[in-house]
Amino acid sequence: MAPRTSIADFRNFLSSSNRIVALCGAGLSAASGLPTFRGAGGLWRTHSPTSLATPDAFEDDPALVWLFYAWRKHMAIKASPNRGHYALAELAKRRENFLCLTQNVDGLSPRAGHPDAQLRALHGSILDVKCFNECGYVDKNNLDDPVCPALAPAAEDYPSNETLPLLDPNVPLPSINVEDLPHCPNCKTGLLRPGVVWFGESLDFAMLDEVDSWFRQAPIDVILVIGTAAVVNPAARYVDKARRMGAMVVVVNPDPSSGAGLSRGDFFFQGDASAILPQLFEDIIGKMDEAGRIV
Ligand code: NAD
Ligand code: ZN
Repeated sequence: MAPRTSIADFRNFLSSSNRIVALCGAGLSAASGLPTFRGAGGLWRTHSPTSLATPDAFEDDPALVWLFYAWRKHMAIKASPNRGHYALAELAKRRENFLCLTQNVDGLSPRAGHPDAQLRALHGSILDVKCFNECGYVDKNNLDDPVCPALAPAAEDYPSNETLPLLDPNVPLPSINVEDLPHCPNCKTGLLRPGVVWFGESLDFAMLDEVDSWFRQAPIDVILVIGTAAVVNPAARYVDKARRMGAMVVVVNPDPSSGAGLSRGDFFFQGDASAILPQLFEDIIGKMDEAGRIV
């Protein structure tokens, strides 16, 4: 049975909802100009991004992995939150029983003013750095860009119609000595690494416990699945968990296949999250202008 697609029906439903959860992915930040992992293009130089996002890749070639993350950090710092981030932040300010889980590491939700208490960055933050040796050192919200002088080629600004040399696989990578990468000021031996969760690593246990107890507390009215292929666990599991707690599933995604698996009563809004979310929440947050301000 096809899911519902009426914005008016969804607004009525949301107005009478109490416990709301959102699961966001890279598509939420697409309108801010940040590339998704599995979308068009896909490769970073000749590497699949997922092959760079592992502890083994960092061990093998920390300079390569750091160049990739230093470039993503530069992009995230240069980007601005879009109307999708602002709409979620406004909903959070008006509904204390709304919890937003994001797989994004770009820091755009906090920059849109999303209250910390109602946001869980499941995969960490690209603005944090921590010790690869796990001595416990963490530096939160580090805005150094470039990360260090040796990583300056990842933080160059280039005209949008030209290719940044770093991204051109025909241009050799700058050669970087491991000694010139950032080292841990605490244990003095470990390299510093981005504070994100890599493939093969576990998510923060305390955070997972907290999210699980939120899920179990009481029935959930709705889970918004925004800009995520929802294929990577445990994120994907939250959709089923919410359903078991009674939730309707609402998918916001331009990819028609992301509506598969929805049933009658669920909603599917096909399109760009930055355009759709302000409309979906309008009865609660009011009208939003192009810059993401409530008018
Ligand atoms: P994904 O790349 O697997 O999927 C992105 C999804 O967004 C796709 O389903 C796509 O159809 C959809 N999409 C594309 N444009 C959209 C738009 N304008 N509005 C709404 N949806 C849109 O990303 P994922 O599911 O988040 O999982 C991949 C992993 O990649 C995550 O672990 C995440 O941490 C990481 N990642 C993060 C960022 C970021 O922080 N901005 C960027 C890339 C990847
Ligand atoms: Zn250390």
